[in-house]
Amino acid sequence: MPKLKNKYQFCKCNNCGEVFFDTNPNSQPFFEIPKGKTYNELETINKEGEFFKGCFNCETDEYLMDIENENQL
Ligand SMILES: [Zn+2]
Repeated sequence: MPKLKNKYQFCKCNNCGEVFFDTNPNSQPFFEIPKGKTYNELETINKEGEFFKGCFNCETDEYLMDIENENQL
């Protein structure tokens, strides 16, 4: 997982609203974890023999969006 002094990159599933640590990040900014909040890592999903990182609620990566703004956390 990318790490920069307690700062992390995040992504969000726009289908269920769950926020994750982005384990395959793009160039989105790093944020600190807001007080009192906890996040999970993306789950490795096996769909028809293909493995990918996705939302454990929706079992897809289709709705994952990078979090670009701290107020989305
Ligand atoms: Zn989801």
